Amino acid sequence: MRPTASAQPRAHQVPEFTRIALEHALRSGLCLICAAVRASERKSIHAFLYEGMMSPGVRQDFLRKGGFCRRHFWMAKQIEEDSWQAGGIGLAILCEDLLRLASSIIEERGAQPRKNKPLIGRRTESAAITIGSPCIFCEEHATREAYLIEILEELIGEPRFQRILQDQPLCVVHGQIAAIKWKTVENRASMATALRTQLQRLAAEMRIFIDKHDHQRRSELRDEERDVLQYAIDALVGFDHSVVQEREHP
Ligand SMILES: [Zn+2]
Ligand SMILES: [Zn+2]
Repeated sequence: MRPTASAQPRAHQVPEFTRIALEHALRSGLCLICAAVRASERKSIHAFLYEGMMSPGVRQDFLRKGGFCRRHFWMAKQIEEDSWQAGGIGLAILCEDLLRLASSIIEERGAQPRKNKPLIGRRTESAAITIGSPCIFCEEHATREAYLIEILEELIGEPRFQRILQDQPLCVVHGQIAAIKWKTVENRASMATALRTQLQRLAAEMRIFIDKHDHQRRSELRDEERDVLQYAIDALVGFDHSVVQEREHP
């Protein structure tokens, strides 16, 4: 049978670097997009701590957005600990900036008279900054996610990437984006079917897990059945970056 036009690989359109990143992410056994985006944001934060933050323009942009968000702040700390065995100083320098910035924001806000209307025109630049709000890496994350999902459609006709539509579907968060944004109707339908099959299978397994959870039947639970909660959360929202160290797949 001739493959449909949608399923034919158009590999020449995929940059080699991106293809390698996606092939590597495929080996994680997890949602391909979650794994690829995580790897790329770790590289990005590492490069920022290694040299990016030394550039005044980059550092200003970072501070203007309120520094790191909560997730990327803790990720940066982990990356610094993993990468600079003798102890990196980059995060400490950024923290000093952020501590002073947060202090001046609080001082400025405290000095403002209590009014219902915002003080347009009298607000200083620092008063407009919110510490912990979505950061430059959150913006990069969203852009990268959309790009990789788009690129994945170019690869989905290749045998190794067919796993995405069979035994290794994307998480619902990413799968839904593909099922809406992919250009070809057959590819969108295949993604929706793969997601539904996976979710229905997990829902049935979850019912077995719940039924066996009382004391009388707990001994009937097999080892693989105990992991269903973790698989279900993976399937719904992808794995949590903050706990990935404990959950690293081979
Ligand atoms: Zn995902
Ligand atoms: Zn962030």
